[in-house]
Amino acid sequence: MVDRGGKKNAFAVMENQFQQESFEPTKDIKQAWDAVYKALRAEFGEAVFRSWLKPLALQAFYHGTMEISVPTRFMRDWIQSHYAARLLELTRAQNQTIERVEIVVVPQSSAIEDETPAPTQVTKSNMNVMAEKMDLLSPLDPRFKLETFVVGKSNALAHAAARRIVESQTMPFNPLFIYGGVGLGKTHLMHAIAWAMREKHPEKMVVYLSAEKFMYQFVKALRGGEAMAFKEIFRSVDVLMLDDIQFISGKDSTQEEFFHTFNALIDQNKQIIISADKAPSDLQGIDERLRSRLAWGLVADIQPSTYELRLGILQAKRALSGMDVPDAVLEFLALKIISNIRELEGALNRLLAHADVTRQAITLETTQEVLQDLLRANDRRVTIDEIQRHVAEHYNIKLSDMHSARRCRNVARPRQVAMYLAKQLTCRSLPEIGRKFGGRDHTTVMHAVRKVDELVGEDPSFAQDVDVLRRALTG
Ligand code: ADP
Ligand code: MG
Repeated sequence: MVDRGGKKNAFAVMENQFQQESFEPTKDIKQAWDAVYKALRAEFGEAVFRSWLKPLALQAFYHGTMEISVPTRFMRDWIQSHYAARLLELTRAQNQTIERVEIVVVPQSSAIEDETPAPTQVTKSNMNVMAEKMDLLSPLDPRFKLETFVVGKSNALAHAAARRIVESQTMPFNPLFIYGGVGLGKTHLMHAIAWAMREKHPEKMVVYLSAEKFMYQFVKALRGGEAMAFKEIFRSVDVLMLDDIQFISGKDSTQEEFFHTFNALIDQNKQIIISADKAPSDLQGIDERLRSRLAWGLVADIQPSTYELRLGILQAKRALSGMDVPDAVLEFLALKIISNIRELEGALNRLLAHADVTRQAITLETTQEVLQDLLRANDRRVTIDEIQRHVAEHYNIKLSDMHSARRCRNVARPRQVAMYLAKQLTCRSLPEIGRKFGGRDHTTVMHAVRKVDELVGEDPSFAQDVDVLRRALTG
């Protein structure tokens, strides 16, 4: 062993002298800092103060430099980028001899006085504990695995993308953005990826949660003065999965927070997986910067299901249930219940429960009886063709004008009404509706929907017209 004892001692003495001679802030500096600390609290408000500024402490002063300490590196970076400029201004206003403010990291072992020891260094395991304590994770459904996800034409792309992410050693694309209508399997696929990732990479911190929860917990953290911990946790995950991101549209501060998290993770080469009910470009109320970033990686849609897929899913569920359901019944359900997979599953479950309780065999007859209401609702589902026909008749224009390029008011207005009703009464996306109206752009449909909404609010007789049409169509 090399003996460095002597040297070490010499250093210690030197450090000591330094501290005593020139590092210790004078009374003036201390007073200035106290005033600045108060000013920060008044200026940024209690919530920000508690989240970010409270732990700031005067550390040292030398040669015009005031050193302010914070407990973590992350916090130093955050203060540096968000508050440093203002901090300097306030400081200089108090005392002209202060020329610079430096933020330094001084881990505080006694900073947090509760049962968890204060993490001086952020480690994966204490992050996980913190994430759980702050309730930042959504539970994963054990039924939603890759093995139980039935693949068909409508969801093949999204499924292949999920597999790639799970199986690949490197990151094939980032972010992965999965979108599709309600009940088509987005959440199932997200959970399946999370399960597989956790299994394959137990050392990685895989965080799955709904955007709703993200927002709720973010707001809660802000209020409770825990925004720091919140940010720190989300910026240190390895895989971030956010379900139903459309939920944060219009919620500006949540979006802003997510945007920063998103960028920080992408910069560190961490995988992000997002789901939504629409394509990035169709997400209204989401900031343009964020929307374009969401589309940076792979965008995979889940289309409305096909008959084959619905039948495949029913067959898989039947096998799982171990119950006896005739093929004819499954085929009948796959044909009739086209709204979404969730409803299809619900129908089969009801049938199984009924058979279980009544001890009757499942037949086509019992199926029709037990599922009466559901079947009727699915029968009633309106198609865009029907809407166009009805609206054209109502306004006395030609059906072909629904597709034509003519723009005169007495044709254009009914066409807008039809687009509006198509948006309201069918599960078709804006681009799909646009296509059905002579290949128009989705923005045209969006404009039509807004315009009709506006007119409905302004003109009672117009509103009544629209209402009559809606009733006729939905029976
Ligand atoms: P979304 O999140 O798109 O609204 P979910 O993922 O919650 O839809 O799916 C609704 C239900 O349908 C779930 O019970 C899910 O397991 C089932 N489901 C959807 N797609 C499939 C599929 N391809 N294979 C098996 N089950 C599916
Ligand atoms: Mg979902």
